[in-house]
Amino acid sequence: MALITKAIKGTQDTLPADSYKIKFLEATLADIAGHYGFREIRTPVFEHTELFNRSVGDTTDVVQKEMYTFDDKGGRSITLRPEGTAGAVRAYLEHGLFNDPSPMKVYYLTSCYRYEKPQAGRLREFHQFGVECFGTDAPAQDAEVIALADEAFGFLGVKGLELQINSIGCPHCRPVYQKALKDYFTAHKSELCETCLTRLERNPMRILDCKEEDAALKDNAPVVLDYLCDECKDHFEKVKKYLEAMGLTYTVNPRIVRGLDYYTKTVFEFVSNDIGAQGTVCGGGRYDGLCEELGGKAIPALGFAMGLERLLLLLDAQGIELPADEPQALYLATAGDAASLKAAQIIHDLRAEGISCSFDTVGRSIKAQMKYANKLGADFTAVLGDNELESGIVQLKYMDTGDTRDVSLDTFAEDFQQIAMQTALSALQAELDMGGEDLGKVDLSALLGGNSTWTE
Ligand code: ATP
Ligand code: MG
Repeated sequence: MALITKAIKGTQDTLPADSYKIKFLEATLADIAGHYGFREIRTPVFEHTELFNRSVGDTTDVVQKEMYTFDDKGGRSITLRPEGTAGAVRAYLEHGLFNDPSPMKVYYLTSCYRYEKPQAGRLREFHQFGVECFGTDAPAQDAEVIALADEAFGFLGVKGLELQINSIGCPHCRPVYQKALKDYFTAHKSELCETCLTRLERNPMRILDCKEEDAALKDNAPVVLDYLCDECKDHFEKVKKYLEAMGLTYTVNPRIVRGLDYYTKTVFEFVSNDIGAQGTVCGGGRYDGLCEELGGKAIPALGFAMGLERLLLLLDAQGIELPADEPQALYLATAGDAASLKAAQIIHDLRAEGISCSFDTVGRSIKAQMKYANKLGADFTAVLGDNELESGIVQLKYMDTGDTRDVSLDTFAEDFQQIAMQTALSALQAELDMGGEDLGKVDLSALLGGNSTWTE
C-alpha cells in the first residue's frame, strides 16, 4: 500500500511509545511555573500578520524569511505564530489584563511555525514553553524569570547548561550603539549579505544575529555593553546581584543580541554544548517597549521561551530518562462468550472506580492474550473461562513475582481495588526500606493491615 502523502518536511509526529516524554515535560514545566505564580494563557495558533511584523520586527530573520503567511478566504493576511510572546501581549492588552493585580505572570505551552532549513534541533513546527511577566521594570523580576528557567533545568537533572546574560540597552542608549555598529559595518559593506545591506540602514544590530555573516566580522563589531546609559548599567548590575543572591551562576556574553526586535535591557540564553550547533535551549529577555509599540499603554514586561524539542534532545544526549506512563493495573483474559460478557462488566465497573484495566476485545487465544498483557506491562492478570464462571473464583496473578491468589467473581471489583492498593503500598514500603533513614517516620505496615495472603 502506498501512502497518499507523508508528513511535511520539518514536522514530527509524537508516537504513543514516546508521548510520555513530552507529556511529562509539559506537566513538569507547568507545575514549576505554577510554583512561581504563573498561570496559563492560551492564544490562537494564527494572528494578523501585522502583529508579528510590529512585535517581532520587520528586519528580523523570523519576519523576513521564516513566517508561514497566507491570505485567508476573506483576503486578510494571516500568519501561523512563529513565537508565543506576540499573541500573549496582544491578549494581555486586548482583555485589559493590566487592570488585574500586577505583576501579571503567565505561561504557555504552544506549537510554533517557522520556515527554516530543517536539521537537528531546528524544525518547521516546534514547541515552546514560555513565560511572560507584565507590569514591573524591577531587576528582581528579571532574576525571578531567569531562576524559573534555571529551576526547570535543575529539576529535570540537565547538566552543563551555561546561563549567558547581557544587556542590550534601551531607546536612550541603543541609537548611539546602532550608530557605532552602522559605521563599523559600513566599512565592511562588501562582506554583508543582501538582507543585511538593508539592515545596515534600518537596524544594524540585526546583522549581529544573521547566520549568513562571518563570525569574525560579528565578533570584532562594537559591543553593546560599552554603550549602555547609566540606568541600563544600573539595572544590569542589580539583575546580577539578584542572580547571585539566588545562587545562580552566569556568564556575561556581550555578543547576545537575540533574534527578535522587541528586547530591551536584559537578554539571556541557556546554552548547551551537548546537542550540536542548535545549542540554545532557552532564550528570553525584557521588552519594555512592546506593549506601547502594539498600541497599548507603556507597560514594562519580560519573558523567555524554551524549545521543547531541543530540551528533549538534550535530555537524550545526557541519558536522562523521564518517568514512563503507569502500566495498566489489570488485564483480564477471557475464553468463551459468557466469560467475555462477564469480563466486560467487571472491567467497566473497575474503570468507573478509576482503575486502569483492559479485557480482550478481539477474541484471541489465551496464549495470544497473555502475550499482549505482557507487552502492555499489566501489573495483574487473570483468566476468566467457563470453569471460573462455574466456580465463581478467578486466580489473580501479580506479574512482578508470579504470585497468585483466588478472588471471588461476585466481589471482584471491590476486592481488586483493595489488592491493588495493598500491593502499591507494599511496593512503596519496599522502596522506602531501600531509601533508609527517613523511614522511621512512616509506619506503613500498620497501613497495610498485617500479613500478606499471597501464596507461592
Ligand atoms: P536560533 O538562533 O537557534 O534560530 P532563535 O533565536 O530563533 O534561535 P527564539 O526565537 O529565541 O530562537 O526561540 C526560543 C527557543 O525556541 C530557542 O532557544 C529554541 O530552543 C527554540 N527554537 C527556535 N526556533 C526553533 C526551531 N526552528 N526548531 C526548534 N526549536 C526552535
Ligand atoms: Mg531562529
